[in-house]
Amino acid sequence: MEKREMTCIMCPLGCSLVVTKDGDKIEVTGNNCQRGVIFAKEELTCPMRIVTSSVKTAEGVRACKTSKPVPKAMIFDVMKEIEKLRLKKVKFGDVVIHNVLNTGADIVITANE
Ligand code: SF4
Repeated sequence: MEKREMTCIMCPLGCSLVVTKDGDKIEVTGNNCQRGVIFAKEELTCPMRIVTSSVKTAEGVRACKTSKPVPKAMIFDVMKEIEKLRLKKVKFGDVVIHNVLNTGADIVITANE
């Protein structure tokens, strides 16, 4: 039996979860809603994260992020793809990489300056 403690990051409440895994059976306590169970199960099988970074443009550096979480194991590879970009001009909401590394997530500009 495996027991882990973790903080749910699905909302600002940040519930402290205790996750017990016994074979295929996963039990979660400490969650205030069902999203905590989904988060805990995903953390044990394929943890996902939103990636935030910045893109170099001719007008300076602009903040960006993934449009949805990507596998935690791919964060550094996604950041390398973002680092390769050299753009002229971007604005809030522009998609600068579609489906980065086949994750299904786009890289989206999140600031005008
Ligand atoms: S378990 Fe629900 S209420 Fe608690 S942090 Fe996660 S999403 Fe928020």
